[in-house]
Amino acid sequence: MKFLAGENIPELLEKLSLLSEVWAPRELRGSGGTVMFERWRSGDPLDLEHFASLSAKDMVLPRTEKLFGFSYAFGGAAVGNPFGAPAESAGGIPATAGESIRITAAEPAGNVVLFGARACDAKALTVLDALFDQTDGKGYNDPQYRARRAGLTVITLACVTSDPACFCSSFENGTAEKAGSDLILYPVDGGFLAEAVTPKGETVIESGVNSRNKVGSARGPGDSDPETGEAASGLTLFEESALETPVLAVTAKVEGLEGLRQKLAAIFDDLEFWQAETEKCISCGYCTYACPTCHCFNIHDEMRGDREGVRLRSWDACMFHLYTQETSGHNPRPTLAHRYRNRINHKFSYYPENQGEILCTGCGRCIRGCPVGLDIRDVLRQAVECSASPGEGGDR
Ligand code: SF4
Ligand code: SF4
Repeated sequence: MKFLAGENIPELLEKLSLLSEVWAPRELRGSGGTVMFERWRSGDPLDLEHFASLSAKDMVLPRTEKLFGFSYAFGGAAVGNPFGAPAESAGGIPATAGESIRITAAEPAGNVVLFGARACDAKALTVLDALFDQTDGKGYNDPQYRARRAGLTVITLACVTSDPACFCSSFENGTAEKAGSDLILYPVDGGFLAEAVTPKGETVIESGVNSRNKVGSARGPGDSDPETGEAASGLTLFEESALETPVLAVTAKVEGLEGLRQKLAAIFDDLEFWQAETEKCISCGYCTYACPTCHCFNIHDEMRGDREGVRLRSWDACMFHLYTQETSGHNPRPTLAHRYRNRINHKFSYYPENQGEILCTGCGRCIRGCPVGLDIRDVLRQAVECSASPGEGGDR
């Protein structure tokens, strides 16, 4: 493996930021310790110790994104419409006689390096891929998600310590999960051991060669400086190392999750169970916004004046009453119990059945941030217990 000295990280990020946006965990200014994935610019301090409050999913699924723009104009033929939407539906405003509609695509996605993700963040990307990035022709294929995903390089920080809310060890690989990472950095004395998982990760390691030469130079190892004629230093940020990788953290484990789909099915109709579990929930939606795998969204048109506008996609949350409200006024999930039952079943039953992945990586964000202390691990434990004797209440 290669060794990257901790003091060389800013230099590596400098080099990466020449070709990509770099996002990394940073303490929000004036927040009193809240860490978030933020755009990194030269000189910005990093926080590689604390867990980012919100996930990195907006690297591939932004909170709000423009799907396309539209405008009405007299004369000329209709232009664009790459999404197949009926022209008259844009903005809810019908084109008047003689008007045509023009559709402009959203800005193309650029390259992004996500530095300092955790294994659960990286794994979450592959969980989302199972829905948005299907190339087999059978599943959904979201062009904007796919473009962002293709341009994303994920550099993961392996966890040697964990937080009390973490429970990734409940799932297959726990902190040793490599799915979704392009490069993994293992903390060791003085820096990190670097393991490339994909060709993108190898490119990151290669980008560290000749780092002492002028940043941005395209020179290869051994080339001299074309301006000064000086021989290249040949130094690299990543040095060969015989160090052993550190022992990774083992996080809290929720037992009894095998066969969970069947266990959840056994208590699906036990609304009393779901009412008891969600008694203190205030339906704020934090758990869904913070979650790296939750992906509910809403689509709406926003007008700029009365003849042009944009179609936007924004995060939504299944914990909101209005999320399933139908135009007729009927709501198939009228209570918190119905909504939380859906949240749990979507994560641990429907999604695994349809997409082959559990819609949870055990990151613990929904536990750390829930304002009323509702702990998804307790709900799962209770569900496992009650499924053994459905309808009898279990330990409620
Ligand atoms: S964060 Fe907690 S209170 Fe808010 S919707 Fe989720 S479970 Fe309910
Ligand atoms: S459900 Fe909670 S623990 Fe699981 S991935 Fe989402 S935020 Fe993390």
